[in-house]
Amino acid sequence: MKIAITGGTGFIGGRLIDHLIRAGHEMLNISRSTNAHVHGVTTVTWEQLEATPSLLEGFDAIVNLAGESINQRWTTKAKERVLLSRQKAAARVAELVNRLEVKPKVVVNASGMSIYGTSETETFDERSPHRVADFLSGVTEEWERAADQIRGTRIVKVRVGLVLDGKEGAFPKMALPYKLGVGGPIGSGRQWLSWIHIDDMVRLIAFCIQHEDISGPVNATAPNPVTNKEFGKVLAKTMRRPNLLPLPAFVMKLVFGELSVLLLEGQKVLPRVLLEHGFEFKYTTVDRALADIAGGR
Ligand code: NDP
Repeated sequence: MKIAITGGTGFIGGRLIDHLIRAGHEMLNISRSTNAHVHGVTTVTWEQLEATPSLLEGFDAIVNLAGESINQRWTTKAKERVLLSRQKAAARVAELVNRLEVKPKVVVNASGMSIYGTSETETFDERSPHRVADFLSGVTEEWERAADQIRGTRIVKVRVGLVLDGKEGAFPKMALPYKLGVGGPIGSGRQWLSWIHIDDMVRLIAFCIQHEDISGPVNATAPNPVTNKEFGKVLAKTMRRPNLLPLPAFVMKLVFGELSVLLLEGQKVLPRVLLEHGFEFKYTTVDRALADIAGGR
């Protein structure tokens, strides 16, 4: 297949490109910069594509992962960039698809599990209603609304959980206190953490591209979410380090500001659509996932 990707210079995008190239697909990376080098892949800028949309003619799939990182202090300006970058990327994909004679068969657009809001007691799947309760849930709601403007092709909205990898993403920062022997649960420890191993993350995007009967929202989370307390316990055991007293919520708020909501609140999200379509997770439990990425650290 011929597959175009935005955000191919990022964490998930880079791994996805490696996975899809190994599977024999031809890739094109769409970036903000002409200097973006992704090994073994041609890169074009958004502007080049907009000047010559025919460069996308004949592509079977587009994967849209582009968006300003949320991993920064949430100032008013940063929040604006987080929201607008996602709305704009989805709108640009919609416009490009519109202009193509022959549309791609599928567009996979990233989204987030924040769309369900946060809860310590509820369980969410793709049938659960959206709940705009805070900044991030508002962003995901708007992001999906922008993706819904992509017409004339199958749309899959992949609601990404916390992606676990030993080198990139949030995990190395989460593991650092444990590495230093001062790790412990965060806040009450009762908040849910719906995680996914990076290998399953890229495998499930490929699965969604290939399965023509999948469309709409797809939760990209492993089938066994854990509480923050359980996650800390398994991580400490895996790294053979102590699991100490909880880090109080007020300290997190002082250090991280509003961004601390990511660590202090969560949601239990199940991958109903993937399981119904027979997707086989390689990493179903956090014990297995952490043994792979943190074992021997
Ligand atoms: P990264 O931050 O690693 O990569 C995102 C890519 O988006 C960058 O490589 C960049 O590509 C492009 N980008 C960055 N800022 C902007 C901007 N202001 N405007 C337009 N494009 C921009 O993200 P991940 O790979 O971690 O995640 C991919 C998507 O999945 C993101 O949208 C993220 O929100 C979502 N997600 C990720 C989770 C995770 O745990 N990693 C969890 C939940 C959702 P370039 O510079 O080439 O243009």
